[in-house]
Amino acid sequence: MIRTDDAPVAVIGAGPAGLMAAETLATAGRPVVVVERMPSPARKLLIAGRGGLNLTHTEPPGRFLDRYGTARARLEAAIAGFPPEALRAWCEGLGQPTFVGSSGRVFPVAFKASPLLRAWLARLAALGVELRTRHRWTGWDAAGSLLLEGPAGEPATLRPAATVLALGGASWPRLGADGRWVATLRARGVPVSPLLPSNAGIRVPWSAHLRERFAGAPLKRIAARVAAPGLPERPAVRGEMVVTAAGLEGGAVYALSAALREALATGEARLLLDLRPDLEAAELARRLGAPRRGQSLGSVLRKGLGLSPVAAALLREGTDGPAALPADPAALAARIKALALPVAGMAGLERAISTAGGLCWEALDSRLMLRDLPGVFAAGEMLDWDAPTGGYLLQASFATGRAAALGALAWLGAAGDAPPAPG
Ligand SMILES: Cc1cc2nc3c(=O)[nH]c(=O)nc-3n(C[C@H](O)[C@H](O)[C@H](O)COP(=O)(O)OP(=O)(O)OC[C@H]3O[C@@H](n4cnc5c(N)ncnc54)[C@H](O)[C@@H]3O)c2cc1C
Repeated sequence: MIRTDDAPVAVIGAGPAGLMAAETLATAGRPVVVVERMPSPARKLLIAGRGGLNLTHTEPPGRFLDRYGTARARLEAAIAGFPPEALRAWCEGLGQPTFVGSSGRVFPVAFKASPLLRAWLARLAALGVELRTRHRWTGWDAAGSLLLEGPAGEPATLRPAATVLALGGASWPRLGADGRWVATLRARGVPVSPLLPSNAGIRVPWSAHLRERFAGAPLKRIAARVAAPGLPERPAVRGEMVVTAAGLEGGAVYALSAALREALATGEARLLLDLRPDLEAAELARRLGAPRRGQSLGSVLRKGLGLSPVAAALLREGTDGPAALPADPAALAARIKALALPVAGMAGLERAISTAGGLCWEALDSRLMLRDLPGVFAAGEMLDWDAPTGGYLLQASFATGRAAALGALAWLGAAGDAPPAPG
């Protein structure tokens, strides 16, 4: 039952993390106000639905947690409290059963986000959650109330019993999460590491020929790794990429995001493509050195080695357009196994799937409460974790949303509903 005598708990941000926090709080009987700067909630979740909405993954728990790299230990409790099976059951409870794709990734059967979001918002409304859209949170006043900015810029305040910040990162800012919270929290002395693009494409200085002829062409069944002077050799990632006018995008590039960021810091990052990862260099050299019987080299590359036209074009790529290939079969085989592409940088946050960096873990206690702002909790992509695509981003957003709400409930119980005093 809703305790209307209590001040509401404010949840700022109506993405997956914020809405999950709202559901957890409202289910526990707390009045909840969700403040969202956009005209409608969860726009990024809806866009994620365009790719089928990869909600989570079915791999074993240890492997799953490893995907969060250095943030593994910080996220472990939240994900154990709301693991992939619980997320799937929750979807099912909203009338959206899930299925496991061939790669172990989990999707709703509907293969989009809109039916799930519709059912979820109806559940939240039934729980009495108030959704206040077109209101931007801008900080706190001296008395510790939340400062809001309404649709026409008009100021408003809200004095909640507790607050869950679920403001997202800064990728695809036009969907709502624009990272402006970083300055607000830093001004209060909260440490935030810079928000950087992750699961983003890379910029490669293609020749005009390659850009004009091959933008949009997929590179399938390849392997890629990152190299830079002074950095240890990194394991290769197998998968697919797409050549774009600006560089490369796609799962195999996204999976290298962390290594790319590190390599770019050296000023000499290169992407090494293995265009035939299932064939040894010696076998490639043997096929290249075999009598051609009138076939052109291009034909040998395509028919004898199974390279696509774009892969063959990449082998010839020179600064000003197609360049000659090495005549020596061993040298050409070596190029096919480790084609070096200079990486000019990562694509910007505007097109990145996720954001690395964020609210530093040392600023939070184990309940996800900001140590210096009692009663203020944080969840979702605004925290300093990152993961590859594969459902790990949404899983951690949902799980930390729930964990922060549970933290707020525990704190409210212990705090006897004392209002927070960050001001
Ligand atoms: C194209 C694309 C595809 C994706 N596909 C997948 C996928 O298939 N699987 C997967 O796991 N992940 C995917 N992701 C990532 C996933 O969508 C995000 O990790 C997830 O939405 C983060 O949830 P969040 O609630 O933390 O933040 P968000 O979803 O970004 O929500 C934050 C909310 O806070 C609001 N807000 C921000 N600042 C304020 C403020 N000051 N006042 C009020 N409101 C504010 C924003 O408007 C926004 O609604 C995809 C992302 C993109 C861009």
